[in-house]
Amino acid sequence: MKDVVVKNTAVQKIKSFNPWIYKNEIKKISKNLKSGEIVRIYSTKKEFLGLGYANPLSKITIRILTFFKEEDINKEFFKKRIENAHKKRIKFLKNTNAFRIIHSEADDLPGLIVDYFNKYLSIQINTAGIEGFREEIIQSLVEVINPEGIYEKSDEKARKKEGLKTEEKIIYGNIPEKIVIEENGVHFFIDLKTSQKTGFYLDQRKNRKIVSEYVEKGFRVLDLFSNTGGFGIYAGKKGADFIKFVDISESAVLLIGENAKLNNLKNFEIVKANVFNFVKEEVENEKKYDLIILDPPSFAKTKHEKEGALRGFKYLIINSLKLLKKDGYLSVFSCSHHVSLTDLLEITKEAAKDTSVRVEILEHLFQDIDHPYLLNIPMSLYLKGFLLRKI
Ligand code: SAH
Repeated sequence: MKDVVVKNTAVQKIKSFNPWIYKNEIKKISKNLKSGEIVRIYSTKKEFLGLGYANPLSKITIRILTFFKEEDINKEFFKKRIENAHKKRIKFLKNTNAFRIIHSEADDLPGLIVDYFNKYLSIQINTAGIEGFREEIIQSLVEVINPEGIYEKSDEKARKKEGLKTEEKIIYGNIPEKIVIEENGVHFFIDLKTSQKTGFYLDQRKNRKIVSEYVEKGFRVLDLFSNTGGFGIYAGKKGADFIKFVDISESAVLLIGENAKLNNLKNFEIVKANVFNFVKEEVENEKKYDLIILDPPSFAKTKHEKEGALRGFKYLIINSLKLLKKDGYLSVFSCSHHVSLTDLLEITKEAAKDTSVRVEILEHLFQDIDHPYLLNIPMSLYLKGFLLRKI
């Protein structure tokens, strides 16, 4: 195993359990490291700092797998990590049979994502470092969770960067065409073959519940960026009178009707459209709603895109405020680490000023606990939002 020596400036960061070592934080590294190779990390004073895997092509050149001398990177290591993460979910999440088991760095396994959908697993192997332990990981998942099937949905972009090929396929057991999951008494179809990401936006589970608590009988609800209907279906279950779902993705939109039927919703409309154009038309047509959900994809994947992202939010929030009845509710989310809750609230304040309305913030919302937020890994807090009332 090769050694890597980090600069003094990076030592404190690593000692406080931040697992990313950037290229410019490295003092000495072997030139012929292979992508994914396991390395030992030392300070210039020869203190052991951890074991990690190398990504020579990446700006984040080392991702740390363990900070502890006693641990080796082998099958037992992965099995123990998976067992601990699984146990924690079982303990914390009572009202669902679908949850994320491994959330990459936030579960001490950078590059690996595993979701559980009612006896089936969806897995993403996004780095060469994790790819090297593919068999150990799959075996461990089978031993710890005993799923009926595992479907691989690795992220194409991430893998390409690491020089890995991508295939989406069943890698263990069998996978039905559609899986039905339940969260908080609401049911959803999951189609692993056509879905986005690893199958379903599990990180919004808690927020779907919190927002739906505000729904009253007779409500007209607008679910913008609805994907397969998450927020709108919850609202329907709580007695909303009418729900309009809007998403641009063909495969997502196709499942909304089936999810609505599965939950006995009768009065709804599904629109396949670009939300940016759609909201403008709704304002022109003087439509009004009691509850609007704005849950767009990440507009800022890097910090350079933040300004553009905020402009997009402002436009969407202005139009949503116009579509909202007096005393109506609006819930806004950003799933980009680079847009903070403060940014989101500031831009909402500007939007409220431009539309001459007063707003009351009722809830601050974050990702659910199966997507852990570790204080020592700032990037692990990525989903934030709020619920407001138009006064
Ligand atoms: N609220 C959803 C998750 C939303 S994810 C849930 O609870 O499950 C973001 C969604 O935005 C994706 O489904 C994606 O297809 C959709 N999307 C991305 N850009 C869009 C656009 N310009 N107009 C409409 N939908 C868009």
